[in-house]
Amino acid sequence: MNHTLVQGAYIVAGLLFILALNGLSKHESARMGNRYGIAGMAIALTATVVAAVAGPTTDGGPGSQGSGLTGLALIVPAMAVAAVIGITLARRVEMTGMPELIAMLHSFVGLAAVLVGWNSSFEKNVVYPTVHDVEVFIGIFIGAVTLTGSVVAYLKLSAKIRSAPLVLPAHNALNLALVAAMFVMTAVYCLTSRDAEFTRQLLLAGMTLMALFLGWHLVTSIGGGDMPVVVSMLNSYSGWAAAAAGFLLGNDLLIITGALVGSSGAYLSYIMCTAMNRSFLSVIAGGFGVEAGSAAVESDYGEHREITADDAAELLAEAASVIITPGYGMATAQAQHAVADLTKTLRARGVDVRFGIHPVAGRLPGHMNVLLAEAKVPYDIVQEMDEINDDFSVTDVVLVIGANDTVNPAAIDQPGSPIAGMPVLQVWEAKEVIAFKRSLATGYAGVQNPLFFKDNTQMLFGDAKHRVEDILRAL
Ligand code: NDP
Repeated sequence: MNHTLVQGAYIVAGLLFILALNGLSKHESARMGNRYGIAGMAIALTATVVAAVAGPTTDGGPGSQGSGLTGLALIVPAMAVAAVIGITLARRVEMTGMPELIAMLHSFVGLAAVLVGWNSSFEKNVVYPTVHDVEVFIGIFIGAVTLTGSVVAYLKLSAKIRSAPLVLPAHNALNLALVAAMFVMTAVYCLTSRDAEFTRQLLLAGMTLMALFLGWHLVTSIGGGDMPVVVSMLNSYSGWAAAAAGFLLGNDLLIITGALVGSSGAYLSYIMCTAMNRSFLSVIAGGFGVEAGSAAVESDYGEHREITADDAAELLAEAASVIITPGYGMATAQAQHAVADLTKTLRARGVDVRFGIHPVAGRLPGHMNVLLAEAKVPYDIVQEMDEINDDFSVTDVVLVIGANDTVNPAAIDQPGSPIAGMPVLQVWEAKEVIAFKRSLATGYAGVQNPLFFKDNTQMLFGDAKHRVEDILRAL
């Protein structure tokens, strides 16, 4: 395939990726955004494979690293294995398992960048050796941080390890020292003669190990409630890792795509930090989770009150206004369809029903919005926390469906709490609160929730889907 055609295909794919990101920023256009992304990726893959098969070009453009049929013989089996793994995982994964899957996929991008970096370090005939050496170092560094950081995020999100932060002594100084050491080692690597191959490889291996440690340390020192920002940050790192690999492979599309993912992930992290009242810089430094305090203290908040589904139905039948605040428990219970049916029933009776969505509810940015859209809840009654927080005080009943940290007053009342300072949905301001969950257990951040013991809160214990269905029957 001719170089100009490949470049043309890459530009079209790049534009489709931009349209995809734009589409994904709104509910209404998200499906279309996904289609643009799929089309862009199909074009990008086809152009890359065809360029590789076409074999070496003389101009150093895409396809210059191709090796004809040998390239094809390597690419096709690799793509087939990857496609089988990808399709199997995507078909199997539950909506609740998406965050872990995404964290795992980020780690693959990191691993790929490390491997591409190491492979490029063996290249002999490079035009600008110093620039190439810096690219190798940066590519491996970002890739390795992304790799171990994402593996720790995967383990935390899938509850395979504790979500509480591990705080090593002088952890911020340690992170800074590792980054400074990376810069020094890059300089030494660039200045070391290419004939001293063993010394250069030793430097590269030392830096790789350091970066692997840094990735682990950055994410392990983040507290459970602050993980959403880490996930979007790792998303961003994976983009920069891909862009670095793009530089090493001389692939413009990989650079563009990586930069798009990197910058949109960084912007998402910034939005999440603002929403959670955290400092963007301290997230990057990995000290974020301990800013507010790291010890969850057990307190005696007194007795909780319980309510039956029949009594809850009665309360709802008499209400003029209802706000539903869903959380991760709605996702695990797969209660969104029952919740949508309840919404329809109440609205048909003239009740004003709205949803209040916390920016970090669930385990993925936009998790609740996706579930509610899937259950066809009208978009115009789904409101963000900032839009709805002032309205709780004039609301008759709030249904807290599987939410915990995102409605925890400790974030406001208890300065020493690990979630202190995080804005929350102030559901306790309403006349009546009904909290749907299976027990009095803590949420993801491991912090006790005084909401469940307030005078105007009643607990409706059990699986959220079953309890909502019970209410529907009673109504
Ligand atoms: P939480 O994780 O705080 O709490 C969810 C609650 O749901 C639990 O307390 C659990 O209580 C209940 N629950 C679980 N299964 C069921 C079920 N089948 N039926 C009824 N209840 C159930 O949820 P929130 O959404 O309020 O908060 C999200 C947390 O996750 C925040 O700390 C956030 O920082 C963190 N996080 C968010 C990410 C994001 O991007 N959105 C990413 C990573 C972390 P019980 O066991 O008693 O039923």
